[in-house]
Amino acid sequence: MASPTEHGIILASLMGTETLITWSRSMPRQSSLTDRFGRTVDYVRISVTDRCDLRCVYCMAEDVKFVPRPQLLTLEEMARIGRAFVDLGVRKIRVTGGEPLTRRNVVHLFRELGQLEGLRDLTITTNGTQLHRYARELREAGVTRVNISIDSLHAERFRAITRNGELHRTLRGIDAALETGFRKVKLNAVILKNRNHDEVAELVAFAVARQMDISFIEEMPLGVIDEHDRAEAYYSSDRILADLRRHHELIPTTESTGGPSRYYRIPGLKTRVGFISPHSHNFCDQCNRVRLTAEGRLLLCLGQEHSTDLRAVVRAEPTDDAALREIIVESMKLKPKGHDFDLYTRPIIFRHMNTTGG
Ligand code: SAM
Ligand code: SF4
Repeated sequence: MASPTEHGIILASLMGTETLITWSRSMPRQSSLTDRFGRTVDYVRISVTDRCDLRCVYCMAEDVKFVPRPQLLTLEEMARIGRAFVDLGVRKIRVTGGEPLTRRNVVHLFRELGQLEGLRDLTITTNGTQLHRYARELREAGVTRVNISIDSLHAERFRAITRNGELHRTLRGIDAALETGFRKVKLNAVILKNRNHDEVAELVAFAVARQMDISFIEEMPLGVIDEHDRAEAYYSSDRILADLRRHHELIPTTESTGGPSRYYRIPGLKTRVGFISPHSHNFCDQCNRVRLTAEGRLLLCLGQEHSTDLRAVVRAEPTDDAALREIIVESMKLKPKGHDFDLYTRPIIFRHMNTTGG
């Protein structure tokens, strides 16, 4: 990985080649993050670990190798980077992974982030297996919203998709989150043909019964997996919508949560049904986010390799937050126009979603 030099030059990896980014302390401080295409970045996802207690078939290979722990950012380093982003105008941070609740002392990070003035939304994406233990502490630390991933409501199927998961643990996590009184608790489901595509109506009914929103996600070709062919398993958002319309009237809304979800309302019900459709409805022109991996790599796009090594920066400049902010501002110039996902070729992105911070 790239390392800093004493002249304040870091190497950032760009499309597999090395690019020089320079910064100087006289560079003007910007109040917001804007890229070359005029998009404002006000949302950061922080992956606190690539490890997970589940092994979802679309997310990782069964014999996955995790990053050695010494290579991970410390929670203090993550909090410092989060603070720099908020100083630059970021208003939303999502903590994710891997499974974020498997990182030891992760609540410490939530407490640090939860105190940042200017941060409007502190959220988490989790598989829910440990949520019953953490929900209250997360709420007290300032977490506003929780996204919980659940791809099936049938124990056997849930186990098959997650390779080892126990459905009742995720269900218990959902109950705990609902009881805790977060501003919002939402469900996410990745839909695969012949695995769970026939369950979409049941998943919506589950969400409706609890007055929750639910989003259906098209599988993305991140990393090599070994259990299915992603192209064969592709089940488009449009097919899901058509399936659901046999049960409900679904009215498109212009509502946005500032993310890639397109939402539909069911008349008379609180539940909104969202679709995250990287293949069928590209959302890159609206992209407002960047991702920090657990190793400290700032990824400018989910589906490209443009990145900056922020671990090198925080370790070279342990007290100089201005230098860190300047590098973050400069990194926005690396943000590419969009992803090039193609289900029919081998993945061009070799990192899996658990490393990326989904
Ligand atoms: N472990 C947590 C969880 O499952 O919610 C957080 C991390 S997980 C990587 C975040 C989200 O990414 C989950 O909703 C998961 O279903 C989704 N995901 C993982 N791999 C994916 C892929 N290849 N394509 C689309 N979504 C994926
Ligand atoms: Fe773990 Fe989430 Fe990936 Fe499933 S999707 S293996 S729960 S990180």
